[in-house]
Amino acid sequence: MPHDFVIVGSGTSGGVLAYYLTKAGAKCLLLEAGKAFNAQTFPDNEMDYSAQMFWNGGLEFNSDVTLAFLRGKCLGGGSVVNQCLLDRFDDIAWNDWRSVSNINFFTSAQMAPHYDEIESKLSIQEISERHFNRNAQLMREGFEKLGYRWKPLRRGQTDCKLDEGNDCIACLGGCHRDSKQSTLVTFIRWARDAGLEVWPEFHAEQLTVTPQGVTVIGVQGEQTRREVSAPKAILAGGALGTTALLLRSGFKAQLPALGQGFFCHPQWMVFALFDEPVDAHKGAFQAIKSDDPRFRAQGFKLENVFAPPIGVAMLLPGFGRNHYALMKKYRFMGCIEVSVRDTSPGELKLDRAGRLVIHKKLSAEDQRRRQAGLAVIEEVFRAVGARQIIVPSLGLGLHLMGGCAIGTDPKNSVVNENFQLHGFPNIFVADSSIFPAAPGINPALTIMALSHRASQSLVKE
Ligand SMILES: Cc1cc2nc3c(=O)[nH]c(=O)nc-3n(C[C@H](O)[C@H](O)[C@H](O)COP(=O)(O)OP(=O)(O)OC[C@H]3O[C@@H](n4cnc5c(N)ncnc54)[C@H](O)[C@@H]3O)c2cc1C
Repeated sequence: MPHDFVIVGSGTSGGVLAYYLTKAGAKCLLLEAGKAFNAQTFPDNEMDYSAQMFWNGGLEFNSDVTLAFLRGKCLGGGSVVNQCLLDRFDDIAWNDWRSVSNINFFTSAQMAPHYDEIESKLSIQEISERHFNRNAQLMREGFEKLGYRWKPLRRGQTDCKLDEGNDCIACLGGCHRDSKQSTLVTFIRWARDAGLEVWPEFHAEQLTVTPQGVTVIGVQGEQTRREVSAPKAILAGGALGTTALLLRSGFKAQLPALGQGFFCHPQWMVFALFDEPVDAHKGAFQAIKSDDPRFRAQGFKLENVFAPPIGVAMLLPGFGRNHYALMKKYRFMGCIEVSVRDTSPGELKLDRAGRLVIHKKLSAEDQRRRQAGLAVIEEVFRAVGARQIIVPSLGLGLHLMGGCAIGTDPKNSVVNENFQLHGFPNIFVADSSIFPAAPGINPALTIMALSHRASQSLVKE
């Protein structure tokens, strides 16, 4: 057996684990279902990057088609297609996690060294007011008129060349400047330099426990079946990928909580039409967020955001001429999203054909949180002169969390405090699937901090 660890999934968690384990001298193999793109080969238009860099071409829905989910499928995973907004959890999030999971290290103080370590490795900057586009300025003006608190977003980036006219909206399909701090250009690159072996386009289909460790069976490329074994496996396929792999491999019988507790911070992009061009697609396309304790207490947050034309076209209402008339106003649109800290756990299951089905409904409390956020957005846009406000009915889920919740009780959790599957000491998980509840905060930095913590206990072993 040539490898000490086989890691399934190369995103936010997989990249970090691969780096710290390889650096410590372990032989690791990183398996990734998606292709290995780089700054020179990222597709250069919205249709192609959606089709080639997202699971199911970027179109995945819950069972009643009220929420659309996006998850990256490429080397670097979600970290390549996300906005790389990096926030630490607050005490509200950690206290909640501690009470649902019984895990004692879920405190700001105990997680601080892990955040410190990850932050020391990345270039993280607050978006400077100098780079606020008109969309961000409108949100700021509205907030200030109404007395709401806001804050610049904190992003993993080096130099986005905004002064030279670069538009960061393009980096939703991969950053062509290697500025965004995805794991592709940070942890995975450094791990490869230290000897990490990577197999892109390997879709892991089955996991079996053997007396020697763990075997992963999958398909490489179009149809080459391959299996790899190692004493230990780390699952880092994300909330949907890791949970689906364990369900397909028959672990539900021993782990009754597998697939339960799925959260997604459902969000709705709200468009406002102005008389003057806003050009929300220009420059730093996300720059500010709400920082108002009243909103946190009510379970929602707001950020300025936008989307490329196909994404906007899918969200706008109407057909034919009406839809065309709205799309012609693309340059005149402002946009703010409300993101809800969801309270109602969904469930991930397989259908008879083995396909993943996502059951996720909003509770009355989630709807109330959504309405409270929408009311603030409407107030903000009206305060800065919006002519018309459009609230799409379809919600989006970008922060996919849970399915393999961490906790001390195997009856209602899947992973223990050492990041091992309950009853399977050679299988480890530290990705977004272990989230025991929705924190209401951007998850990526915490996924990396948890993965760092997991790597430290593995290295000690
Ligand atoms: C458009 C968008 C914007 C976002 N913006 C932010 C943001 O600004 N800040 C933030 O904190 N979060 C953001 N997120 C969320 C964040 O990217 C995810 O929470 C995070 O990447 C999850 O990390 P992970 O390691 O759990 O999974 P992922 O990063 O999704 O990685 C999982 C990897 O495993 C691979 N995989 C899955 N199953 C298999 C299998 N069976 N075999 C082989 N490989 C497999 C996948 O292809 C993928 O590459 C955003 C997400 C999206 C989609």
